[in-house]
Amino acid sequence: MDTTFTATVLGSPRIGPRRELKRAVEAYWAGRIGADALLATGAELRAGMWAQQQAAGLDAIPVGTFSHYDQMLDTAVMLGALPERVSDIDDPLDRYFAAARGTDTVAPLEMTKWFDTNYHYLVPEISPGTRFALDPSKLLGELAEARAQDVPARPAVIGPVTFLLLSKKVDGSGTLLDRVDELLPLYAELLGLLAEAGAEWVQIDEPALVADRTADDIAVVRRVYDELAAVVQRPAILVASYFGSLGDALPALAATGIDGIAVDLVAGADTLATVPGLARKHVVAGVVDGRNVWRTDLERALGTLVTLLGSVGSLAVSTSCSLLHVPYTLDAETGLEEPLRSWLAFGAEKSVEVVTLATALRQGLDAVVGAVDAGRAALRSRREDPRLHDQSLRARIDALTSGTRGRGGADIRRKAQRGLGLPLLPTTTIGSYPQTREIRVARADLRKGVIDDAEYRRRMQSQIAEVVALQEELGLDVLVHGEPERNDMVQYFAEQLGGFFATENGWVQSYGSRCVRPPILYGDVRRPAPMTTEWITYAQSLTEKPVKGMLTGPVTILAWSFVRDDQPLAETADQVALAIRDETVDLQAAGIRIIQVDEPALRELLPLRAADQQAYLDWAVGAFRLATSGVADSTQIHTHLCYSEFGEVIEAIAGLDADVTSLEAARSHMEVLGDLNEVGFDLGVGPGVYDIHSPRVPGVDEIASLLKEALAAVPAERLWVNPDCGLKTRGVAETTESLRHLVEAARSVRAGL
Ligand code: GLN
Ligand code: ZN
Repeated sequence: MDTTFTATVLGSPRIGPRRELKRAVEAYWAGRIGADALLATGAELRAGMWAQQQAAGLDAIPVGTFSHYDQMLDTAVMLGALPERVSDIDDPLDRYFAAARGTDTVAPLEMTKWFDTNYHYLVPEISPGTRFALDPSKLLGELAEARAQDVPARPAVIGPVTFLLLSKKVDGSGTLLDRVDELLPLYAELLGLLAEAGAEWVQIDEPALVADRTADDIAVVRRVYDELAAVVQRPAILVASYFGSLGDALPALAATGIDGIAVDLVAGADTLATVPGLARKHVVAGVVDGRNVWRTDLERALGTLVTLLGSVGSLAVSTSCSLLHVPYTLDAETGLEEPLRSWLAFGAEKSVEVVTLATALRQGLDAVVGAVDAGRAALRSRREDPRLHDQSLRARIDALTSGTRGRGGADIRRKAQRGLGLPLLPTTTIGSYPQTREIRVARADLRKGVIDDAEYRRRMQSQIAEVVALQEELGLDVLVHGEPERNDMVQYFAEQLGGFFATENGWVQSYGSRCVRPPILYGDVRRPAPMTTEWITYAQSLTEKPVKGMLTGPVTILAWSFVRDDQPLAETADQVALAIRDETVDLQAAGIRIIQVDEPALRELLPLRAADQQAYLDWAVGAFRLATSGVADSTQIHTHLCYSEFGEVIEAIAGLDADVTSLEAARSHMEVLGDLNEVGFDLGVGPGVYDIHSPRVPGVDEIASLLKEALAAVPAERLWVNPDCGLKTRGVAETTESLRHLVEAARSVRAGL
């Protein structure tokens, strides 16, 4: 065993510590700055990141993980796989952004979730006509920059298997993996170029290998890496995996001639000791969690590392995945008090942890005794903090969850809810109305101290009054208050619940120039006071029609937060569920008869491996039922889910047992209704009848014909009429027009029943 023990990470944040890249990219799109200024900002951010990582003591630094928009799009450019429709845009930067965001005449690539993270990547489109061709300029350019700065650079790319598995096959048959032979010569050529440019190692990311793969897929992996390893002039090859276990892919990779493998030992559970071939490999051990914000238990991580010593050829310490998924640094958090601060580590702090662990391996624990002592004290203070262990809360949950977590039967509820007096095909919306200029100004004024809380509330009330009046005028049957007071559907609740902490600068890239600031869920969740009743009851006071209370569900709150890692997620979910349950009971007591609990993220947290999925779905559904079973049978529970391909979660949707479920469906022609029928779903359902992602106003006939399609699958008694999703990103004029058409279409179809 080589005992050099290097320290590395698998990737870095890139949006800028102050979101500089976001600003520059948006200024470029708006024509306020030119390409030179944009490129200069990128170069500065890269240089700054490398300098910081070098100062931290990392001795191998990934280069090429920077992106102006997305790494899958960068890979598509590198492989000459941009769609035909952007090919006549001459300027490379404009062509790139056209593929990312579309133009007036060109549709963008689709966007989807990067594995089970909150990052979204662009889905390359591969058609039979795609002719792959290597364009190594971005990677070689960044490598040259890094080497000029004396950075111990390890160029990093997405591997051919992951690239093809994550791309979309535009037409033709077979799997895209069949095209791998067209990519191999390009990767081989790239290896040669990187070696020529002085790279000693190359990092080839293959995260797709941590999901279930067929034996045929694994055979392709084997062949691909045998062939790349056979390239004569090449750097040492590190195949990087992250977000889970490699499973069968691990022995396959170990049997090839590659030089190193990066394994995620935080999210994954591969046992390395028994894998033949690993004794000759460089293993990059991801023991520092790259996607959560907690300080690493150094002694435990060291224990894990020590157990590997006998089984691997050489060992490097690393983060479990790219640091793309955590904020830059704790230094930017000025309002963060102790001891909470001491419990955390963001990107910069995680790099230091990696170096500390490598130093401990090289020189023994004594060499890092200060860091280990500080870490131990921080962990102890976290373990013993009373905010993490509220016994009365835990007892309440135990008492509630020992029962069935259910409500009365569907028929009993249906009868009890007749008093709502709704017509057949009731019309409603998903919750939010357009975020107007007045709303943004009021929020900014409150933040700047220009207005006080009372004035802010008055302004929000006037927004609510407008939205209620509009819905009355349009003739909708179930009204909403419009959510003007919510900056974000998770943050709004996190700010009011105990156990959450909101960062000031904890921005993380979500996609392109869009960043989110997930709250940190660190303790037991308490609800000190009602969170929504004031707004909902105000809206209800303005109308005779029922107003839907609007809450975010426990799974979605977890999915869009950094969650605690010291207890099973299922337990945390029940705590959030209890807070939501208390809110539903308060809303009911205040006279609200319909309550919607949104779970748009139900599918996002689905584990990557099928074997883990049922256990997740069980606790996720259980948490939703805990949240929604505190109300009377006469109170109608709605839920809303945000995607059109339900696949593995379809039974779970039925399991939620909400009286009414609204879903995205317009673009997929009501397909979901057939899927729901197959699992025996017999509750209310509102398949979205128009796509809110586009400003286009749907015609009355178009909506009516979708409704008729829906009626072929669902009896009228169960069918609701609503848009695909909330309206907050839309303009007022187009929203009004669209909803007018929606109501008209519902009336005409209703008249024909
Ligand atoms: N009630 C939310 C809204 O209308 C739901 C948003 C969502 O599904 N993402 O905005
Ligand atoms: Zn939605």
